[in-house]
Amino acid sequence: MNENDSEHIAGVLVRAGAAKADRPEDADIVVVNTCAVRQKSEEKLYSYLGRLSGLKKKRPFLLGVAGCVAQVRKAHLLEKLPFVDFVAGPDNYLDLPEIVGRAAEAPTVRADFGTDWREVGPEATARENPWSAFVPVMEGCDNFCSYCIVPFCRGREKFRPLPNIVAEARAAAGAGAVEIQLLGQNVNSYRDPESGLGFAGLLDAMCAVPGAEWVRFITSHPKNFGDDIIRAMAANPKVCPALHLPLQSGSTRILERMNRGYTREEYLALAARLKESLPGILLSTDVIVGFPSETEEDFEATCSLLREVRFAGIFSFRYSPRPLTAAAAIPDDVPLEIKRRRLIALQALQKTIQVEINRSFVGREVRVLGTGPSPKGAGRFAGRTDGNLVVNFDSAADPSGRFLTVRITGSGPYSLHGTTVEL
Ligand code: SF4
Repeated sequence: MNENDSEHIAGVLVRAGAAKADRPEDADIVVVNTCAVRQKSEEKLYSYLGRLSGLKKKRPFLLGVAGCVAQVRKAHLLEKLPFVDFVAGPDNYLDLPEIVGRAAEAPTVRADFGTDWREVGPEATARENPWSAFVPVMEGCDNFCSYCIVPFCRGREKFRPLPNIVAEARAAAGAGAVEIQLLGQNVNSYRDPESGLGFAGLLDAMCAVPGAEWVRFITSHPKNFGDDIIRAMAANPKVCPALHLPLQSGSTRILERMNRGYTREEYLALAARLKESLPGILLSTDVIVGFPSETEEDFEATCSLLREVRFAGIFSFRYSPRPLTAAAAIPDDVPLEIKRRRLIALQALQKTIQVEINRSFVGREVRVLGTGPSPKGAGRFAGRTDGNLVVNFDSAADPSGRFLTVRITGSGPYSLHGTTVEL
């Protein structure tokens, strides 16, 4: 979502006559896009803004902060950081030309949720990647998980009309995108505002887009993942056999306190249905360790769930209280040392699982979408499988944006490697 927001911010300004600079040192307007989900990302913002303020002393430019931190910290940003010229919340990107114009005269803030939500649209999207297009389907979230700041940054759920989504996907595919990635905080709750068609119908519509060979979507909520979506995934070979399904905790007691709306057993049953209906599907997830009151028993329940489901990848974090959330009002009572120890243990467990999953690909030929040069050295390139595994391989030509077959010759915990069979 963040990357797509940056494409919108750049696209809106480019449409108003700006040109993209490669680095802040060369820019007349610098917009810092932000994430408020974790305290750490917010701390990084303040240190980055400090560096930009030093740059601004040497050469003046307009400095703006956009995104979720801008939304929830708007007053603080302008009052405490006088070198910030403007602040724009996630629902205000279409106003950026006007905001920037005003900021040239005086510090300016636009961080309101309009009652009439306006989607940015493809005409104001500066795509970073020509072969893989992010296509937002909704914005905001109604779930209010007790630890999560997103509903306060992005507002309540708003859905794009289906014809607009299809038109954007068709245009992107017509311009060379072979992969469509549907985006939203909770894509499974999608409903076309006109027809009421749900996410399964949206998947069907995406798979009918000529030129789009792979369709992915993120993020799914387990409580909204109906069997109709599983059936649509199984019926459409273009839908990639990879699913990010945030877990957060394997303990029903903690899930209740997180207001997640499902139990451990319900999550396990959903994972089992997915694996049965979509053989070979690779699941990934998010986990928070050290949520208030988490005991060793709760933590062990998370570990045992990881062993049972065998995710191909996880994003795992130590809990940190976020402003405005319900959990911020309860004591953050798991000591930092215990949070650290649990995170290390969880990541070590996950690493052993990934080593085993990745090793099972050695000797197989897999279809890979090339993504560009690999950091592994000259002549090496990287790509992703339909299951979203990273593959590093040798290739005579840059395969970016092209499908190729790679024979897997080795693996590690975080990637596969191999040689190109055909290009
Ligand atoms: S579903 Fe929960 S965790 Fe996800 S964005 Fe909404 S409130 Fe946050």
